[in-house]
Amino acid sequence: MAHISEEQIAQWDLIDPLAEKREAFTLPANTVYLDGNSLGAMPTAAALRGKQVLEHQWANDLITSWNTHSWIDLPATVGEKIAPLIGAAPEQVICCDSTSINLFKVLASAMTLQKNRSQVLSLAGNFPTDLYMVEGLTALLGESHCHLKTVDEDTLEEALTSEVAVLMLTQVDFRTGRLLDMQRVTHLAHKQGILVIWDLAHSAGALPIALDECDVDFAVGCGYKYFNGGPGAPAFVYVAKRLQAHVSQPLKGWMGHKQPFAFAQGYEQADNITQYLCGTPNVVSMSVLDAALEVFADVNMQQIREKSEALSELFIALVEAEVALSDLVLVSPRATKDRGSQLAFEHEHAHGICQALIELGVIADFRAPNILRFGFTPLYLRYQDILTSVQILTQVIQQKVYLQAQYNKQNKVT
Ligand SMILES: *Cc1c(COP(=O)(O)O)cnc(C)c1O
Repeated sequence: MAHISEEQIAQWDLIDPLAEKREAFTLPANTVYLDGNSLGAMPTAAALRGKQVLEHQWANDLITSWNTHSWIDLPATVGEKIAPLIGAAPEQVICCDSTSINLFKVLASAMTLQKNRSQVLSLAGNFPTDLYMVEGLTALLGESHCHLKTVDEDTLEEALTSEVAVLMLTQVDFRTGRLLDMQRVTHLAHKQGILVIWDLAHSAGALPIALDECDVDFAVGCGYKYFNGGPGAPAFVYVAKRLQAHVSQPLKGWMGHKQPFAFAQGYEQADNITQYLCGTPNVVSMSVLDAALEVFADVNMQQIREKSEALSELFIALVEAEVALSDLVLVSPRATKDRGSQLAFEHEHAHGICQALIELGVIADFRAPNILRFGFTPLYLRYQDILTSVQILTQVIQQKVYLQAQYNKQNKVT
Protein backbone atom coordinates (compact mmCIF):
# COMPACT_ATOMS: atom_id res chain seq x y z
CA MET A 1 0.00 0.00 0.00
CA ALA A 2 1.38 3.36 -1.01
CA HIS A 3 2.08 5.85 1.71
CA ILE A 4 -0.96 7.90 2.63
CA SER A 5 -0.11 11.46 3.58
CA GLU A 6 -1.77 13.56 6.26
CA GLU A 7 -2.70 16.02 3.51
CA GLN A 8 -4.51 13.31 1.62
CA ILE A 9 -6.44 12.35 4.75
CA ALA A 10 -7.34 15.98 5.47
CA GLN A 11 -8.56 16.27 1.88
CA TRP A 12 -10.91 13.29 2.33
CA ASP A 13 -12.46 15.05 5.32
CA LEU A 14 -12.89 18.23 3.27
CA ILE A 15 -14.82 16.51 0.50
CA ASP A 16 -16.75 14.11 2.76
CA PRO A 17 -20.50 14.55 2.04
CA LEU A 18 -21.31 13.32 5.58
CA ALA A 19 -18.79 15.60 7.32
CA GLU A 20 -21.33 17.97 8.83
CA LYS A 21 -23.33 15.12 10.39
CA ARG A 22 -20.73 15.05 13.14
CA GLU A 23 -22.18 18.32 14.42
CA ALA A 24 -25.44 16.55 15.22
CA PHE A 25 -23.63 14.58 17.94
CA THR A 26 -22.33 15.51 21.36
CA LEU A 27 -18.89 13.92 21.58
CA PRO A 28 -16.21 14.11 24.27
CA ALA A 29 -13.10 16.12 23.41
CA ASN A 30 -9.86 14.33 22.53
CA THR A 31 -11.57 11.03 22.02
CA VAL A 32 -11.80 8.84 18.97
CA TYR A 33 -14.84 6.68 19.39
CA LEU A 34 -14.49 3.35 17.62
CA ASP A 35 -17.21 1.53 19.53
CA GLY A 36 -20.39 2.80 17.92
CA ASN A 37 -21.13 -0.80 17.01
CA SER A 38 -21.70 -1.54 20.71
CA LEU A 39 -23.18 1.75 21.91
CA GLY A 40 -23.72 4.56 19.42
CA ALA A 41 -22.65 8.09 20.37
CA MET A 42 -25.27 10.58 21.55
CA PRO A 43 -27.10 12.73 19.03
CA THR A 44 -27.65 16.11 20.66
CA ALA A 45 -31.33 15.97 19.72
CA ALA A 46 -31.67 12.81 21.80
CA ALA A 47 -30.64 14.65 24.97
CA LEU A 48 -33.04 17.49 24.24
CA ARG A 49 -35.90 15.07 23.70
CA GLY A 50 -35.08 13.17 26.89
CA LYS A 51 -35.23 16.42 28.85
CA GLN A 52 -38.46 17.45 27.19
CA VAL A 53 -40.14 14.11 27.87
CA LEU A 54 -39.15 14.17 31.54
CA GLU A 55 -39.50 17.82 32.44
CA HIS A 56 -42.34 18.86 30.20
CA GLN A 57 -44.37 15.87 29.07
CA TRP A 58 -44.17 13.72 32.17
CA ALA A 59 -43.88 16.48 34.79
CA ASN A 60 -46.60 18.76 33.44
CA ASP A 61 -48.88 16.72 31.29
CA LEU A 62 -48.72 13.53 33.27
CA ILE A 63 -50.95 10.73 32.08
CA THR A 64 -52.63 12.86 29.44
CA SER A 65 -49.34 12.64 27.52
CA TRP A 66 -50.28 9.17 26.29
CA ASN A 67 -52.67 11.01 23.96
CA THR A 68 -51.43 14.59 23.80
CA HIS A 69 -47.80 13.64 23.16
CA SER A 70 -48.71 10.43 21.31
CA TRP A 71 -46.76 8.21 23.70
CA ILE A 72 -49.05 5.35 22.81
CA ASP A 73 -48.04 5.59 19.15
CA LEU A 74 -44.28 5.53 19.78
CA PRO A 75 -43.71 1.83 18.98
CA ALA A 76 -45.34 2.31 15.57
CA THR A 77 -43.83 5.76 14.92
CA VAL A 78 -40.31 4.59 15.68
CA GLY A 79 -40.90 1.35 13.77
CA GLU A 80 -41.88 3.33 10.68
CA LYS A 81 -38.76 5.48 11.02
CA ILE A 82 -36.58 2.38 11.11
CA ALA A 83 -38.40 0.61 8.25
CA PRO A 84 -36.90 2.52 5.30
CA LEU A 85 -33.42 2.17 6.82
CA ILE A 86 -33.70 -1.63 6.61
CA GLY A 87 -35.53 -1.88 3.31
CA ALA A 88 -39.00 -2.51 4.68
CA ALA A 89 -42.25 -1.07 3.34
CA PRO A 90 -44.63 0.37 5.98
CA GLU A 91 -46.58 -1.69 8.53
CA GLN A 92 -43.95 -4.36 9.01
CA VAL A 93 -41.66 -2.95 11.71
CA ILE A 94 -42.43 -2.10 15.31
CA CYS A 95 -40.20 -0.89 18.12
CA CYS A 96 -40.35 -2.71 21.44
CA ASP A 97 -38.53 -4.74 24.08
CA SER A 98 -34.97 -5.95 23.61
CA THR A 99 -33.39 -7.83 20.71
CA SER A 100 -33.28 -11.00 22.82
CA ILE A 101 -36.98 -10.83 23.65
CA ASN A 102 -37.94 -10.02 20.08
CA LEU A 103 -35.91 -12.99 18.91
CA PHE A 104 -37.87 -15.22 21.24
CA LYS A 105 -41.14 -13.90 19.83
CA VAL A 106 -40.21 -14.42 16.18
CA LEU A 107 -38.55 -17.78 16.85
CA ALA A 108 -41.73 -19.00 18.49
CA SER A 109 -43.82 -17.57 15.64
CA ALA A 110 -41.70 -19.27 13.03
CA MET A 111 -41.64 -22.63 14.83
CA THR A 112 -45.43 -22.51 15.15
CA LEU A 113 -45.74 -22.05 11.39
CA GLN A 114 -43.49 -25.06 10.74
CA LYS A 115 -45.69 -27.85 12.05
CA ASN A 116 -43.57 -30.85 11.06
CA ARG A 117 -40.05 -29.58 11.45
CA SER A 118 -38.14 -29.02 14.65
CA GLN A 119 -34.62 -27.91 13.78
CA VAL A 120 -33.38 -24.36 14.26
CA LEU A 121 -30.19 -23.87 12.28
CA SER A 122 -27.66 -21.20 13.13
CA LEU A 123 -23.94 -20.52 13.03
CA ALA A 124 -21.76 -21.68 15.91
CA GLY A 125 -20.18 -18.23 16.14
CA ASN A 126 -23.50 -16.41 16.47
CA PHE A 127 -23.94 -13.96 19.34
CA PRO A 128 -24.60 -16.05 22.45
CA THR A 129 -27.96 -14.49 23.35
CA ASP A 130 -29.39 -15.58 19.98
CA LEU A 131 -28.43 -19.20 20.66
CA TYR A 132 -29.53 -19.00 24.28
CA MET A 133 -33.00 -17.88 23.21
CA VAL A 134 -33.31 -21.06 21.14
CA GLU A 135 -32.26 -23.09 24.18
CA GLY A 136 -34.99 -21.37 26.16
CA LEU A 137 -37.60 -22.23 23.57
CA THR A 138 -36.34 -25.83 23.49
CA ALA A 139 -36.78 -26.08 27.25
CA LEU A 140 -40.35 -24.90 26.86
CA LEU A 141 -41.41 -26.90 23.79
CA GLY A 142 -39.28 -30.02 24.29
CA GLU A 143 -36.43 -31.34 22.14
CA SER A 144 -38.80 -33.08 19.78
CA HIS A 145 -40.42 -29.78 18.85
CA CYS A 146 -37.44 -27.47 18.87
CA HIS A 147 -33.75 -28.13 18.84
CA LEU A 148 -30.73 -26.11 17.87
CA LYS A 149 -28.16 -27.17 15.33
CA THR A 150 -25.10 -24.99 14.75
CA VAL A 151 -22.65 -25.24 11.90
CA ASP A 152 -19.65 -23.27 10.68
CA GLU A 153 -20.09 -20.88 7.82
CA ASP A 154 -18.36 -23.12 5.29
CA THR A 155 -20.97 -25.84 5.77
CA LEU A 156 -23.98 -23.57 6.09
CA GLU A 157 -25.35 -24.01 2.60
CA GLU A 158 -25.19 -27.81 2.68
CA ALA A 159 -26.99 -27.77 6.04
CA LEU A 160 -30.01 -26.06 4.45
CA THR A 161 -32.13 -29.18 4.05
CA SER A 162 -35.83 -29.98 4.41
CA GLU A 163 -35.08 -30.98 8.03
CA VAL A 164 -34.63 -27.35 9.00
CA ALA A 165 -37.61 -25.41 10.30
CA VAL A 166 -35.97 -22.06 10.89
CA LEU A 167 -32.68 -20.53 9.85
CA MET A 168 -31.59 -17.89 12.35
CA LEU A 169 -28.58 -15.81 11.35
CA THR A 170 -26.89 -12.60 12.31
CA GLN A 171 -26.10 -10.62 9.18
CA VAL A 172 -22.80 -9.23 10.47
CA ASP A 173 -20.76 -11.43 12.81
CA PHE A 174 -20.22 -9.61 16.09
CA ARG A 175 -16.61 -10.70 16.38
CA THR A 176 -15.19 -10.73 12.88
CA GLY A 177 -17.55 -8.36 11.10
CA ARG A 178 -18.18 -11.04 8.45
CA LEU A 179 -21.18 -9.96 6.33
CA LEU A 180 -23.43 -12.72 5.04
CA ASP A 181 -25.20 -12.58 1.70
CA MET A 182 -28.78 -12.07 2.84
CA GLN A 183 -30.33 -12.42 -0.59
CA ARG A 184 -28.57 -15.65 -1.48
CA VAL A 185 -28.93 -17.40 1.86
CA THR A 186 -32.59 -16.45 2.23
CA HIS A 187 -33.31 -17.71 -1.27
CA LEU A 188 -31.52 -21.04 -0.70
CA ALA A 189 -33.37 -21.52 2.58
CA HIS A 190 -36.76 -20.76 1.06
CA LYS A 191 -36.14 -23.34 -1.66
CA GLN A 192 -36.09 -25.92 1.15
CA GLY A 193 -39.19 -24.53 2.82
CA ILE A 194 -37.17 -22.98 5.66
CA LEU A 195 -38.31 -19.78 7.38
CA VAL A 196 -35.58 -17.21 7.86
CA ILE A 197 -34.88 -14.87 10.78
CA TRP A 198 -32.15 -12.26 10.42
CA ASP A 199 -30.60 -10.50 13.38
CA LEU A 200 -29.53 -7.05 12.20
CA ALA A 201 -27.78 -5.99 15.43
CA HIS A 202 -24.49 -5.13 13.71
CA SER A 203 -25.89 -4.13 10.34
CA ALA A 204 -28.93 -1.89 10.85
CA GLY A 205 -27.78 1.71 10.53
CA ALA A 206 -24.38 0.64 9.17
CA LEU A 207 -25.17 -0.60 5.68
CA PRO A 208 -28.04 -0.83 3.19
CA ILE A 209 -30.40 -3.70 4.00
CA ALA A 210 -33.19 -4.86 1.71
CA LEU A 211 -35.49 -7.03 3.83
CA ASP A 212 -38.46 -6.86 1.44
CA GLU A 213 -36.37 -7.35 -1.66
CA CYS A 214 -34.62 -10.36 -0.13
CA ASP A 215 -38.02 -11.79 0.83
CA VAL A 216 -36.97 -12.15 4.46
CA ASP A 217 -39.57 -13.61 6.83
CA PHE A 218 -38.57 -12.13 10.19
CA ALA A 219 -35.88 -9.79 11.46
CA VAL A 220 -34.86 -8.19 14.72
CA GLY A 221 -32.29 -5.55 15.60
CA CYS A 222 -30.88 -3.15 18.14
CA GLY A 223 -31.73 0.47 18.89
CA TYR A 224 -28.55 1.30 20.78
CA LYS A 225 -25.82 0.29 18.30
CA TYR A 226 -25.67 2.07 14.93
CA PHE A 227 -29.08 3.70 15.56
CA ASN A 228 -27.59 5.65 18.49
CA GLY A 229 -30.69 5.29 20.66
CA GLY A 230 -28.77 5.29 23.95
CA PRO A 231 -27.90 2.58 26.48
CA GLY A 232 -30.56 -0.11 26.60
CA ALA A 233 -32.63 1.59 23.88
CA PRO A 234 -35.58 -0.52 22.75
CA ALA A 235 -35.12 -2.89 19.83
CA PHE A 236 -37.24 -3.54 16.77
CA VAL A 237 -38.94 -6.44 15.06
CA TYR A 238 -39.87 -6.98 11.41
CA VAL A 239 -42.48 -9.46 10.22
CA ALA A 240 -43.15 -9.68 6.48
CA LYS A 241 -46.62 -8.46 5.61
CA ARG A 242 -47.42 -11.71 3.79
CA LEU A 243 -47.01 -13.64 7.08
CA GLN A 244 -48.82 -11.31 9.43
CA ALA A 245 -52.27 -12.89 9.04
CA HIS A 246 -50.83 -16.34 9.78
CA VAL A 247 -48.48 -15.78 12.70
CA SER A 248 -48.90 -15.52 16.42
CA GLN A 249 -46.37 -14.96 19.17
CA PRO A 250 -46.51 -16.34 22.69
CA LEU A 251 -45.95 -13.21 24.82
CA LYS A 252 -49.57 -12.22 24.70
CA GLY A 253 -49.47 -8.97 26.58
CA TRP A 254 -52.30 -6.49 26.43
CA MET A 255 -50.50 -4.11 24.05
CA GLY A 256 -50.60 -6.80 21.37
CA HIS A 257 -54.35 -7.19 21.78
CA LYS A 258 -56.67 -6.01 19.04
CA GLN A 259 -58.26 -3.55 21.48
CA PRO A 260 -56.10 -3.08 24.55
CA PHE A 261 -58.42 -0.53 26.09
CA ALA A 262 -61.47 -2.74 25.80
CA PHE A 263 -59.93 -4.71 28.71
CA ALA A 264 -61.59 -7.81 27.33
CA GLN A 265 -61.45 -11.17 29.08
CA GLY A 266 -59.81 -13.26 26.38
CA TYR A 267 -56.79 -12.46 24.24
CA GLU A 268 -57.51 -11.54 20.66
CA GLN A 269 -54.35 -10.70 18.79
CA ALA A 270 -54.03 -7.61 16.62
CA ASP A 271 -54.04 -8.70 13.00
CA ASN A 272 -50.96 -6.65 12.11
CA ILE A 273 -47.43 -6.04 13.36
CA THR A 274 -48.90 -4.60 16.60
CA GLN A 275 -49.36 -8.12 17.94
CA TYR A 276 -45.59 -8.19 18.52
CA LEU A 277 -45.99 -5.67 21.32
CA CYS A 278 -46.24 -7.11 24.78
CA GLY A 279 -46.50 -4.57 27.59
CA THR A 280 -46.38 -0.80 28.02
CA PRO A 281 -43.71 0.87 25.86
CA ASN A 282 -40.67 2.34 27.63
CA VAL A 283 -41.61 5.87 26.70
CA VAL A 284 -38.50 7.68 27.90
CA SER A 285 -35.97 5.61 26.01
CA MET A 286 -38.21 5.13 23.01
CA SER A 287 -38.60 8.90 22.72
CA VAL A 288 -34.84 9.29 22.89
CA LEU A 289 -34.42 6.71 20.12
CA ASP A 290 -37.10 8.46 18.08
CA ALA A 291 -35.13 11.71 18.26
CA ALA A 292 -31.82 9.94 17.58
CA LEU A 293 -33.18 8.47 14.35
CA GLU A 294 -33.68 11.97 12.97
CA VAL A 295 -30.00 12.09 12.02
CA PHE A 296 -30.79 9.52 9.35
CA ALA A 297 -33.60 11.60 7.84
CA ASP A 298 -31.50 13.22 5.11
CA VAL A 299 -28.83 10.62 4.39
CA ASN A 300 -29.05 7.38 2.51
CA MET A 301 -27.57 4.11 3.63
CA GLN A 302 -25.46 3.82 0.48
CA GLN A 303 -23.59 7.02 1.42
CA ILE A 304 -23.05 5.65 4.91
CA ARG A 305 -21.79 2.36 3.50
CA GLU A 306 -19.33 4.06 1.16
CA LYS A 307 -17.78 6.07 3.96
CA SER A 308 -17.74 3.05 6.26
CA GLU A 309 -15.79 1.13 3.63
CA ALA A 310 -13.39 4.02 3.11
CA LEU A 311 -12.77 4.45 6.85
CA SER A 312 -12.08 0.78 7.41
CA GLU A 313 -9.88 0.50 4.33
CA LEU A 314 -7.90 3.49 5.57
CA PHE A 315 -7.51 1.84 8.97
CA ILE A 316 -6.21 -1.37 7.40
CA ALA A 317 -3.86 0.51 5.08
CA LEU A 318 -2.37 2.51 7.95
CA VAL A 319 -1.97 -0.62 10.10
CA GLU A 320 -0.33 -2.53 7.25
CA ALA A 321 2.06 0.33 6.55
CA GLU A 322 3.34 0.31 10.14
CA VAL A 323 6.00 -2.30 10.84
CA ALA A 324 5.41 -2.04 14.59
CA LEU A 325 1.86 -3.33 14.03
CA SER A 326 2.82 -6.49 12.17
CA ASP A 327 1.74 -8.69 15.10
CA LEU A 328 -1.86 -7.61 14.65
CA VAL A 329 -3.64 -10.31 12.68
CA LEU A 330 -6.72 -9.23 10.79
CA VAL A 331 -9.47 -11.77 11.42
CA SER A 332 -12.13 -9.86 9.53
CA PRO A 333 -12.56 -10.71 5.86
CA ARG A 334 -10.03 -8.77 3.79
CA ALA A 335 -12.54 -7.89 1.06
CA THR A 336 -14.67 -4.87 2.00
CA LYS A 337 -17.77 -6.33 0.40
CA ASP A 338 -17.62 -9.24 2.87
CA ARG A 339 -17.46 -7.04 5.97
CA GLY A 340 -19.84 -4.96 8.01
CA SER A 341 -18.59 -1.74 9.58
CA GLN A 342 -16.06 -3.16 11.99
CA LEU A 343 -12.62 -4.71 12.02
CA ALA A 344 -11.25 -7.36 14.32
CA PHE A 345 -7.61 -8.07 14.93
CA GLU A 346 -6.09 -10.82 17.01
CA HIS A 347 -3.21 -10.03 19.32
CA GLU A 348 -1.88 -11.94 22.27
CA HIS A 349 -2.19 -8.79 24.41
CA ALA A 350 -5.51 -7.62 22.97
CA HIS A 351 -7.02 -7.00 26.41
CA GLY A 352 -4.18 -4.82 27.70
CA ILE A 353 -3.92 -2.98 24.38
CA CYS A 354 -7.61 -2.17 24.46
CA GLN A 355 -7.41 -0.82 28.03
CA ALA A 356 -4.38 1.32 27.18
CA LEU A 357 -6.07 2.66 24.05
CA ILE A 358 -9.12 3.71 26.05
CA GLU A 359 -6.90 5.48 28.57
CA LEU A 360 -5.24 7.36 25.70
CA GLY A 361 -8.56 8.41 24.20
CA VAL A 362 -9.19 5.74 21.57
CA ILE A 363 -12.26 3.79 22.55
CA ALA A 364 -12.30 0.33 21.02
CA ASP A 365 -13.38 -2.92 22.59
CA PHE A 366 -12.05 -6.31 23.48
CA ARG A 367 -13.75 -9.61 22.81
CA ALA A 368 -12.45 -12.71 24.56
CA PRO A 369 -10.12 -14.40 24.18
CA ASN A 370 -7.79 -12.20 22.11
CA ILE A 371 -9.73 -9.90 19.78
CA LEU A 372 -9.43 -6.14 19.45
CA ARG A 373 -12.49 -4.74 17.76
CA PHE A 374 -12.83 -1.36 16.05
CA GLY A 375 -16.21 -0.08 14.86
CA PHE A 376 -16.54 2.62 12.20
CA THR A 377 -19.51 4.93 12.38
CA PRO A 378 -19.55 7.24 9.34
CA LEU A 379 -21.96 9.76 10.84
CA TYR A 380 -19.52 11.05 13.42
CA LEU A 381 -16.05 9.78 12.52
CA ARG A 382 -13.55 11.75 10.45
CA TYR A 383 -10.75 10.32 8.35
CA GLN A 384 -8.32 12.18 10.60
CA ASP A 385 -9.72 10.20 13.55
CA ILE A 386 -8.59 7.02 11.86
CA LEU A 387 -5.07 8.41 11.51
CA THR A 388 -5.05 9.47 15.18
CA SER A 389 -6.25 6.08 16.34
CA VAL A 390 -3.62 4.16 14.37
CA GLN A 391 -0.93 6.53 15.65
CA ILE A 392 -1.97 5.90 19.25
CA LEU A 393 -2.27 2.16 18.60
CA THR A 394 1.29 2.21 17.27
CA GLN A 395 2.50 4.02 20.37
CA VAL A 396 0.77 1.49 22.67
CA ILE A 397 2.25 -1.50 20.86
CA GLN A 398 5.69 -0.10 20.10
CA GLN A 399 6.25 1.04 23.68
CA LYS A 400 4.50 -2.02 25.15
CA VAL A 401 2.25 0.29 27.19
CA TYR A 402 -0.20 -2.62 27.46
CA LEU A 403 2.12 -4.45 29.87
CA GLN A 404 1.50 -1.89 32.62
CA ALA A 405 -0.45 -3.40 35.50
CA GLN A 406 -3.29 -0.86 35.34
CA TYR A 407 -4.22 -2.11 31.88
CA ASN A 408 -4.52 -5.70 32.92
CA LYS A 409 -7.44 -5.56 35.32
CA GLN A 410 -10.61 -7.31 34.26
CA ASN A 411 -13.73 -5.12 34.16
CA LYS A 412 -17.24 -6.48 34.39
CA VAL A 413 -18.12 -5.10 30.94
CA THR A 414 -15.55 -5.44 28.17
C1 LIG B 1 -25.86 -6.68 20.49
C2 LIG B 1 -26.53 -7.95 20.07
C3 LIG B 1 -27.65 -8.43 20.74
C4 LIG B 1 -28.13 -7.71 21.97
O1 LIG B 1 -29.31 -8.21 22.48
P1 LIG B 1 -29.99 -7.44 23.70
O2 LIG B 1 -31.23 -8.18 23.93
O3 LIG B 1 -30.19 -6.02 23.26
O4 LIG B 1 -29.04 -7.47 24.85
C5 LIG B 1 -28.27 -9.56 20.25
N1 LIG B 1 -27.80 -10.20 19.16
C6 LIG B 1 -26.70 -9.76 18.50
C7 LIG B 1 -26.23 -10.49 17.30
C8 LIG B 1 -26.03 -8.63 18.95
O5 LIG B 1 -24.94 -8.22 18.32
